[in-house]
Amino acid sequence: MESFECDVVVVGAGLSGLTAAYYLSKKDRGLRVVVLEAKDRIGGRTLTRQLSAADGTKDFFDIGGEWVGRPQPHMHYLLQKFGVNAFNPRTPPQNNEDNLKRNETSWQTRLDLHQLIWKVKSLTKKILSEGVKNSPIALECDALLLSSYMEENLWTQEAKKVVDAACKCMFSLAPSEMSLLYFLMYVKEAGGLDTFLHPEEYTGGECRVKGGVQQLCHHLLQKIGKNFVYLKQPVTDIIQSIEGARVVTGNQMQLLCQRVIMAIPPHHAAGISYQPPMPQTRRGLLQSVPLAFLVKFVITYDEAFWSQKNGKRQYGFQAILSNAGSPVGVVYDATSGRGNPALAGFVSSSVGDDSDPKNRKGVILKLIERHLGPDCYRLLEFSQLDWSQEPYNGGCFLKAIMPGTSSYFNNELREPFDRIHFAGTETATVWCGYMNGAIQSGFRAATEVLYHLRPLIVSSPYPDSLCLEKDRTLKKKNGNKDQPYSKWLFWGLGCVGLLSAVYLITKSSRFSEGGNMTHPSTFVKNIRLVFEAPNFVN
Ligand SMILES: Cc1cc2nc3c(=O)[nH]c(=O)nc-3n(C[C@H](O)[C@H](O)[C@H](O)COP(=O)(O)OP(=O)(O)OC[C@H]3O[C@@H](n4cnc5c(N)ncnc54)[C@H](O)[C@@H]3O)c2cc1C
Repeated sequence: MESFECDVVVVGAGLSGLTAAYYLSKKDRGLRVVVLEAKDRIGGRTLTRQLSAADGTKDFFDIGGEWVGRPQPHMHYLLQKFGVNAFNPRTPPQNNEDNLKRNETSWQTRLDLHQLIWKVKSLTKKILSEGVKNSPIALECDALLLSSYMEENLWTQEAKKVVDAACKCMFSLAPSEMSLLYFLMYVKEAGGLDTFLHPEEYTGGECRVKGGVQQLCHHLLQKIGKNFVYLKQPVTDIIQSIEGARVVTGNQMQLLCQRVIMAIPPHHAAGISYQPPMPQTRRGLLQSVPLAFLVKFVITYDEAFWSQKNGKRQYGFQAILSNAGSPVGVVYDATSGRGNPALAGFVSSSVGDDSDPKNRKGVILKLIERHLGPDCYRLLEFSQLDWSQEPYNGGCFLKAIMPGTSSYFNNELREPFDRIHFAGTETATVWCGYMNGAIQSGFRAATEVLYHLRPLIVSSPYPDSLCLEKDRTLKKKNGNKDQPYSKWLFWGLGCVGLLSAVYLITKSSRFSEGGNMTHPSTFVKNIRLVFEAPNFVN
C-alpha cells in the first residue's frame, strides 16, 4: 500500500471538494492538500459533453448541472474568477401562449394554485435560517409529507397534477417522497419561492454557462495542481486518532493527515467505515437521504424546428411532455452559447424506473414527437445519462429527506466529526442542492479547517463574507416583486427552477416574424452576458 503524509485530505472532486482544496491552497500555499476522487474524472454532478452540432463542430452541452443566476454569489464568484461567461438568451416573450399550455388551465386551477403559493410563502417565513429544527413549525411540518399537505390544501385535481409534475422537475422526486419541512427549507435556502420558481432575471434559472459548467472544475484543478488530485481512489476507511487521521482508499492508497473534508453526497459518506465509529444518529441521518431517479438527455439538431411550430414562433420553448405518470418530465430549448440548436430534458421520479433504459431514446423521441412533430427524429446526436446509475453519485438532482428526519438537517449534516469536516451541496446554507450550494459548502468547510490548522490566517471557524448569507443576492434594483399567479402557472406547466429550466430565445426584432433563430451567428449576437458586474467579493 502506498502511503503519504499531508495536511488535509479532501474526499471528492466535485465543485464542492475542488473549491475547498482551492481555497485552502489559496489561503496558504504551504498547506499540503490532496484531493481523492473515486471516479476517473473530476466534476461530480457537473458533466459537459461534446456533441455533434449544427455548425459542424463538437459543441459543449451540460448533461449535469446547468442553470445559474445572479442571486448565486458563490457561483458568480467562480465564474468571474476564471473569466467564464454565463449567458441569458431570454427576453420573456410578451405572448407566451405558444410556449405553454397556459390557456388550457381552468380559472379554478389557477385560483387553487394561487392560494397554495400564498400558504407556502407564509409557512416559509416561519422557517428559521439558523437552526431549522428550532423553527416554530418544524415538528409539525416534519411529520407531514408534501403530498399530504397538497391533499389537504388543494381542492382541484388539476392543480395537484401541476404541483406533482413541477415537483418532479425541481426535485426529481414526487411530493410523496419528501417531508413538507424539507420542501420549505429548500425553498427558503434558495431565497424564497419567487427566486426559486421563476426562471427570470435574478433567479437561479436565469442563465447557462457558455462552454459548459464543468470547465469551472478544470479551472479549479489547474489552480490546485493536477499532481495533488488523485483519480480512481474511492475512500473506504477513515481512522482517527490523537495524532491525526488515516484515509484509506479501495485502490491501496493511504494518506496520513491532520484534517479531512468530506465533499461527497451524504449516502456515500455513510458508506465509509469510520474508526472510532460515527455516532449512530449521525450515520442514520446520512443514510436517511434517499436516492432520486433522474435521467437527463440532450439532443442536438441542425435546426431549431420547435421554434416554428404551427407556423408560429416559440421562443424559450419548454414543456412538460405529459401529465404526471409520464416517463418524461420536461423538455426545453438548450441551444448552446454558440447558437447550436438543442433540446434537453429530464426523465424524473420513480415513473422513470418503468422505462427500459435501452428503449428510453425511442420513448423520449416519441413523446417529443407528440408535441413538436416528426422533425424531432432528424437529430444530429442523442446523449443521455442515468444519474441514478452513475457510480459515486447516486440519484440527483439532490437528496430529499423523509418525514421524521428533517429536524436534523442541516446543522447536523455539516457538523464536524472530530477531524472530519463535511462539505457537499447537501450541507450548504444557501442554495442547498445546487451548484452554488456546493461551492459555498466548500468555502465553509475549508474555513473550518483553516481555523484549526492556521489560526493566524483564520481566526474564526465561521466563514468570511464569501460564505455569509447576507451576500447571497446580487439584487435586482427594485427587488423581486411578488409574481402574479400566472407566472406560477407558467412555471408549473412548463416547469422551472433551475433544474428543469426554461430556455429562451430573444424576441428582439432580429427574430421577429419570419426570422430564423437557428442561425448560430445571429443567435450569438443576441445572447446576453449577465455575469459582467464587477467583483463583489475579494
Ligand atoms: C442532471 C442534473 C442537473 C442539475 N442541474 C442543476 C442546475 O441546473 N443548476 C444547479 O445549480 N445545480 C444543478 N444540479 C445539481 C448540481 O450539479 C450539484 O448540486 C453539484 O454539482 C453538487 O456538487 P458536489 O461537489 O456537492 O457533489 P458532487 O458533484 O456529487 O461531487 C462529489 C464527488 O465525490 C466523489 N465521491 C463519492 N464518493 C466518494 C468516495 N468514497 N471517495 C472518493 N470520492 C467519492 C464523486 O465521484 C463526485 O465526483 C444538477 C444535477 C444533475 C445531476
